[in-house]
Amino acid sequence: MSDTGGGHRAAAEAIREALYRRHPGEVEATLVDVFRDYTPFPFKSFPELYPWLVNHGKSSWGASFKLSNTRQRAKILSSTMYMTVEGSLKQMLRDHPADVVVCVHSLLTRPTMKAMRTLEKRPPYVVVVTDLVSTHYFWYDRHADRTLLPTPIAYERGLKAGLSPATMRITGLPVHPRFNEQLTDKPSARAALNWHPTLPTILLLGGGDGMGPVSKIARAIDERALNCQLAIITGRNEALKAQLEAATWSQPTYIYGFVKDMPRMMAAADILATKAGPATISEACIAGLPMVLYDAIPGQEEGNVDFVLENNAGVFANQPRAAAETIEQWLHEGESALRARAANARRAAKPNAVWEIADEVWEYAHMPPIPTQARKKFTLKDVAEQIGLDL
Ligand code: UDP
Repeated sequence: MSDTGGGHRAAAEAIREALYRRHPGEVEATLVDVFRDYTPFPFKSFPELYPWLVNHGKSSWGASFKLSNTRQRAKILSSTMYMTVEGSLKQMLRDHPADVVVCVHSLLTRPTMKAMRTLEKRPPYVVVVTDLVSTHYFWYDRHADRTLLPTPIAYERGLKAGLSPATMRITGLPVHPRFNEQLTDKPSARAALNWHPTLPTILLLGGGDGMGPVSKIARAIDERALNCQLAIITGRNEALKAQLEAATWSQPTYIYGFVKDMPRMMAAADILATKAGPATISEACIAGLPMVLYDAIPGQEEGNVDFVLENNAGVFANQPRAAAETIEQWLHEGESALRARAANARRAAKPNAVWEIADEVWEYAHMPPIPTQARKKFTLKDVAEQIGLDL
């Protein structure tokens, strides 16, 4: 995994917890931030660069996503990246001689597989795809032993990428087991958080890194002086937290940094205003929380918007004013309309996904190491051959 956004860590922690609960004392799972701990510059700084790149270079990010998203280009780019990180990935495999390797990050899928294929024998490799719909070809490696997917569309893309149906399964996206447990009724959740017990409640967040126009949306909601309360989660974005804390508000407003009790926050809320992060959307579905999506990272998150719209679990309002207007309208429509939207969200939930994934991982951990045909070192010449260049 890597802390580029909050979703990869969330998925990895969810799978680890499900394994620990299913097999107490019998399993040890280590989370490795591969970019941060095992790659040279510039990849090493990816967790810090990612929110900046997405916030400041949104259209270039989207263009890069789309341009690189073909089977052949994904292969070439992964091979090129591999040339830079080969030694570090091999070191990672030496440092963590595991019975099974689980990958929850698209950019790491192929390079990790390549590094493993240089070993005489390698552990089984399970890929858990953590984007919901617009899954990049980076995710798919036909050498992976198992690829677990969130939706039928992600599965179809796997077929196009050349994966065999026998190696794929649709499970849903893994959400931490505590999500269901901490989903108390609204009054208890609000009491625990010290929020007003009856005011309609809006929860506003921008993924693990507090991305997107969170501040502008908060101000747009505030300007309407609605009869509501507002909770804002800024994640790891400390500058945003400081900015919001310095402001004054017309409704009761609670500002948090990175929170560890998201299920309680979601249980206490009536409406979620969020960017279209896959983990947040999957959690909100389990919590039965209707969504106003105010932003989507171009490329990777665009399909998540379709997922929410198709399930009638929310709307896309990609301007701060439009998002605030939708929230006002929803509040105006009253409780029964909100309850219907909440029920739609709940129908799209897959709370069992994490258990199914943990069971798959456990099964693969018990398979014997797989002999490989030791690969020769990958060179620039190999890349040239793949793109038909005569050097
Ligand atoms: N999250 C959290 N605490 C926070 C903010 C976010 O635990 O203060 C979690 C959130 O519950 C979700 C993940 O971070 O599991 C965000 O993942 P998502 O895929 O929605 O967006 P990303 O941050 O990866 O862009």
